[in-house]
Amino acid sequence: MSVRNKEVQPIPVLMTAHRILFLVLDGIGDRPCPSLGDMTPLKAAETPVLDQLATAGVCGIMDTIAPGIRPGSDTAHLSLLGYDPYTCYTGRGPLEAEGSGIHMEPGMIGFRANYATLDSSGKIGDRRAGRIHDTAVLSNAVERGVDLSEYGVKVSFRSGAGHRAALAFKGEGLSHCVSSNDPKSEGKAPLEIRPLEESPAAMKTSRALAEFIQQSGEILGTHPINKERAAAGEKQANIILVRGAGEMGRLEPFSERYGMRGAVISAASLITGIGRVVGLDSIPVQGITGSVNTNLEGKVRAATGALETYPFLLMNIKGADESGHDGKPEQKRDFIHRIDAALAPLSDLDDTILVVCGDHSTPCSVKDHSADPVPVLIHGEGVRRDRVTRFAETDCAEGGLSRISGPSLLPIALDLVNRSKKFGA
Ligand code: ZN
Ligand code: ZN
Repeated sequence: MSVRNKEVQPIPVLMTAHRILFLVLDGIGDRPCPSLGDMTPLKAAETPVLDQLATAGVCGIMDTIAPGIRPGSDTAHLSLLGYDPYTCYTGRGPLEAEGSGIHMEPGMIGFRANYATLDSSGKIGDRRAGRIHDTAVLSNAVERGVDLSEYGVKVSFRSGAGHRAALAFKGEGLSHCVSSNDPKSEGKAPLEIRPLEESPAAMKTSRALAEFIQQSGEILGTHPINKERAAAGEKQANIILVRGAGEMGRLEPFSERYGMRGAVISAASLITGIGRVVGLDSIPVQGITGSVNTNLEGKVRAATGALETYPFLLMNIKGADESGHDGKPEQKRDFIHRIDAALAPLSDLDDTILVVCGDHSTPCSVKDHSADPVPVLIHGEGVRRDRVTRFAETDCAEGGLSRISGPSLLPIALDLVNRSKKFGA
């Protein structure tokens, strides 16, 4: 019998997905908002795509770190990736530095930085240097020009979004126990850098950091960009404010811990940095801003493309968090509606366990993160359906996952793609 004529009987197979997409809607959770008829922005938003995923999947609510713990975005994302923030979180500086493209090695000290304006009276005139952006030329000049070889320190300095930047020191005997020069408000002189403990490492690092601020200020003060800004009546970016010092720790790479390669898509350098410190590749997307005007469609396209290469992908969408911080429930609701529309291509992803969740709540009434648990849904092959038909806080709380903790989420997803290890015989 020829192969051509052979009748192939379809073999019924029980499908198991092979890929995991974590979609983290930053700050999505909220509390009842009076201006939305006491609904949360998520409940008030029209979300047909998320509701369809919730209907076909399993839902729950989640304490990203633990009940009553108010997470930062950084500690929340570490926890969601299965890294205990209580042991491996070393401050925001190293994460921002890594997210800005500096390769942080264990022992390096990272700092958050921003360009600011020092006026002629020696006071900070603008903590954001007139909201300067596209500062790569200035940052290159600082990185190349500052010489801390006297301290045995190699300097890396990179621009972040807008007026933001990141600084890293590499050298022997350095410490993160140093203070900031940021007076935190305008009209005050920059603070003196001090060691925060009496160790030789803290004293050496504080002297090196003070020298960095001195030398970078001289480079910036005479830079042609600042001369042009002064001539145009714009605020000069002539001082760097540093804060959030942290020492880079040693984190077990994601690929070794879970046996799968992964990537991260995020506009926020903090989140990209978290991905990179655990060895996730970062995938750039044009036009993403971390704000409500972000390029959502481009992000979703990049995600579906990345899943061809990476079996694990974390995508963070930031805008709803910003609306929560600004206390704008209507804006938050409308942005969630836009997110939902952009997610349509993810509704029929094959071979993928799709996890949608928040990293924390950012209630408009609080204008900051809260410990209120976040909604979570899991959709894909093999997932048990529950009765939840709406992706919103209280609806999800009635779902089949019940109330889970953040560090449980990845193990649940790994089990659905047959990558969990059996405990016992
Ligand atoms: Zn967040
Ligand atoms: Zn936030």
